[in-house]
Amino acid sequence: MSFGNEYLEEIYRETEKRDRYQKEFLQAVHEVLSGIGVVLDSHPEYIKAGIIPRLIEPERVITFRVSWIDDGGKVRVNRGFRVQYNSAIGPYKGGLRFHPEVDLSVMKFLGFEQCFKNALTGLAIGGGKGGADFDPKGKSDGEIMRFCQSFMTELEKHIGQFTDIPAGDIGVGEREIGYLFGQFKRLRNEHSGALTGKGMSYGGSAIRTQATGYGVCYFTENMLRSRGLSLDGMSAVVSGSGNVALHCAEKAVALGAKVVAMSDSSGYIYVPGGIDIGLMKQIKEKEHARISEYARCAEGAAFISDRRGIWNVKCDIAFPCATQNELDREAANILSENGAVAIAEGANMPSTPGAIETFRKRNILFAPAKAANAGGVAASGFEMAQNSARLSWGAEEVDERLHGIMRQIYESCSAAAEEYNYPGDLAVGANIAGFSRIAEAMLAQGVAY
Ligand code: NDP
Repeated sequence: MSFGNEYLEEIYRETEKRDRYQKEFLQAVHEVLSGIGVVLDSHPEYIKAGIIPRLIEPERVITFRVSWIDDGGKVRVNRGFRVQYNSAIGPYKGGLRFHPEVDLSVMKFLGFEQCFKNALTGLAIGGGKGGADFDPKGKSDGEIMRFCQSFMTELEKHIGQFTDIPAGDIGVGEREIGYLFGQFKRLRNEHSGALTGKGMSYGGSAIRTQATGYGVCYFTENMLRSRGLSLDGMSAVVSGSGNVALHCAEKAVALGAKVVAMSDSSGYIYVPGGIDIGLMKQIKEKEHARISEYARCAEGAAFISDRRGIWNVKCDIAFPCATQNELDREAANILSENGAVAIAEGANMPSTPGAIETFRKRNILFAPAKAANAGGVAASGFEMAQNSARLSWGAEEVDERLHGIMRQIYESCSAAAEEYNYPGDLAVGANIAGFSRIAEAMLAQGVAY
């Protein structure tokens, strides 16, 4: 453990006792607490007001049954969640994940992280997260729709444009948001901005789909510039091939990088000459096929059925964009030995604590998820603003705002790291900058909740 601060150690021990089976959640709490002791030294009022234990405990956790009928007429039951984590800065905001590994620990780790990420954007949005242990893989369109409708029938009671505004995440893309929104509207009889990630024909924002992946690259460019580097001419490895990975790869290529490997949960493809992102998008977004299909369609591409093997591919920069804990200490060492100079996280908590320690030791530039992938939620904030104003901004305007917000996030992480004597450590800087904003808001609002 060791946070260099007895007060934090005691709080962590209590959390471990209370939530002893929630390993992802404990990992996320540990990572944040290990960077904020220095803030408490100069702000004893945060201790007096119990900010940290209040911040660790979600304001509200809702779990619910989702029953639905499959194409064979069989009744199925899944478990749904919404964790309304912290509303000090604004209404709860965070995605919905449909994946068989979803449980309370995963929901709480994602919700906790979301609070800091949302604070970093500078927008008025609090943190939340939700989802279900439903596996969309292999389900028909009708089954997905019925599941989404059943899920929203309960979720609707807890959300709204001023309360809690969910969006997408793993397994929840534009199609699912459409079905969820349709059911919300039917139940509530209102067409409001209670969900983001909507289609352009019914209140969505330009660039929302691309924003997380594009934002990762914009943040990365700012970080690389601090060492006189740029993506132009770099070779890159991007794990995953979903929403975040595809748009991160697309923007990296647009900025002059060559993406040589991408993956899904069955393995990775390696293309020494660089992946054709247009073809990859066709295969993944239009045909909804496995990534191995790329190797069948393109010359010079190899498919290797080992998803973790992707980190053995030599590259200048790695973008983990699939899922939590996908990049461990061993992978970090291999990346470093192969000459990688930077890692930028598109997924949430993709690097294990051992991997992060390795990046630090080896002086590898590291862009932490809560800062680097905040472009998605920032664009969701833009979507909320457009919905409230009954306006629609053009793609250029949204992209420009996204650029601005990613630069500002980089600058605030960098400045916080500098101020507290961790120059260049963006992971610590992100925790400090995010925490400070939430702590001030909580302090101002008293201890009534
Ligand atoms: P998608 O469902 O679109 O894509 C997920 C991708 O990751 C798929 O290629 C999937 O492969 C792969 N994957 C999932 N689990 C594993 C695993 N255990 N090992 C290897 N690959 C895996 O999700 P998103 O792109 O939306 O999300 C990816 C990450 O980015 C998540 O951590 C999410 O929380 C984070 N994020 C997403 C945001 C968004 O706006 N969508 C915003 C901020 C963060 P397969 O198809 O085989 O399952």
